[in-house]
Amino acid sequence: MTTLHAIRSKRVVTPKGVRAATVHLRNGIISSITGYHDFPSGKHVYDGGESVVMPGLVDTHVHINEPGRTDWEGFETATRAAAAGGVTTLVDMPLNSIPATTTAAALESKRIAAHKKCWVNVGFWGGVVPGNAGELHALYRAGAFGFKCFLVPSGVPEFQNVSEDDLRAALPILATLDTPLLVHSELPGPIEEANKKLLKSDPTKYKNWFLSRPASAETTAVAMMIRLAREFNARVHIVHLSSELSVPLIRRAKKVGVRITAETCPHYLFFASSAIRNGRTEYKCAPPIRDLQNNKKLWTALAKSTIDFVVSDHSPSPPAMKCLDTGDFFKAWGGIASLQLGLPAIWTKMTARTDSLNWLVRWMSSGPAQLAGLEKHKGAISIGYDADIVVWNPEKRFTVRPKILQHRHKITPYAKHELRGVVEATFLRGEMIYDRGCFLGTPQGALLRRGER
Ligand SMILES: [Zn+2]
Repeated sequence: MTTLHAIRSKRVVTPKGVRAATVHLRNGIISSITGYHDFPSGKHVYDGGESVVMPGLVDTHVHINEPGRTDWEGFETATRAAAAGGVTTLVDMPLNSIPATTTAAALESKRIAAHKKCWVNVGFWGGVVPGNAGELHALYRAGAFGFKCFLVPSGVPEFQNVSEDDLRAALPILATLDTPLLVHSELPGPIEEANKKLLKSDPTKYKNWFLSRPASAETTAVAMMIRLAREFNARVHIVHLSSELSVPLIRRAKKVGVRITAETCPHYLFFASSAIRNGRTEYKCAPPIRDLQNNKKLWTALAKSTIDFVVSDHSPSPPAMKCLDTGDFFKAWGGIASLQLGLPAIWTKMTARTDSLNWLVRWMSSGPAQLAGLEKHKGAISIGYDADIVVWNPEKRFTVRPKILQHRHKITPYAKHELRGVVEATFLRGEMIYDRGCFLGTPQGALLRRGER
């Protein structure tokens, strides 16, 4: 592996705009940005030509599932997929691994499991579950980036959902630590109501799955979290916001100074329910993919910064658990695999605007970096920032085929779709780790702790 001295291209995405430039690197850090022709000679330089040079993606919503459910995904495969997709830092969710990351000891077992397996940088969220308020300080001190909780059953028994009473125990602690609480925002009540009407319905029909997770489950949960964020002056982040009806609630809360942020995911922006055929459980996630009108409103909310950014919620399972043979949406694992495909999926659907590349960086790199407290050294091509960089061709198209996917399992709703935007090279602290389909050297990703560089 070679440590580079400079990367140049005709299209370098800097916070001030896109320009032809040479990015100079020293000890894995961006040391200066000069004119395009100020390019040192020698072999430790990379010429990106016409391709885009921008900060590597930061994906703060990834389920790696190791240890304990390593047959679902794992550090090695997930981080290879990340590198191939231009993601240079990811933050692992506290559930689906066993143990779940709800104690400091569990966080340590994750770090041991991840040791020397990560191709990109990996950090960890801790979990808030009923009864673990006494663990939150220790998890924070051990380096958790913040905390995640569920308001509805999570899908795995060892990560229980919390009630408002549990949140009232946890939020004062998190507010004192000034660390964010990430919330799966759906409340059980509206879901139970909806399911009563669906008892005899066909489980292979997407429409029935869609009806079983009504938007009201999300809007009532978002309203509750806004109320609690305000009451405790706590930082709350809504994960995978799916419904246009939640957008005005967030907009109004932000306006009056509630400390709330929100993300959405590529699948809510790329797909629409009308195109999902019955039995196609690879599209199953919760909350569900909604209609085209909803999809358009989410794009508008992003453009207005009501929704702050886009992260994958990569959450695969073994193929058998997706129940593709029966097509039963109610029995299938709810989770979409997309870690490697986020960049081209979003880029494909972005409308051409002169500042598109800067928005892309904001949505997929600097925005999520800010949630994780990494914004001072990740998510920008700026002096002093880590040289975690992706070089990609925004005009080139490719078709998603299983053999190009590095995820442990190849099932994804993006299969056979043609996407625009091909990742050519990925650099971690100035070292090339991925080059047009090849992985270079050995896994060198850092295991990050909150607040440490
Ligand atoms: Zn998730």
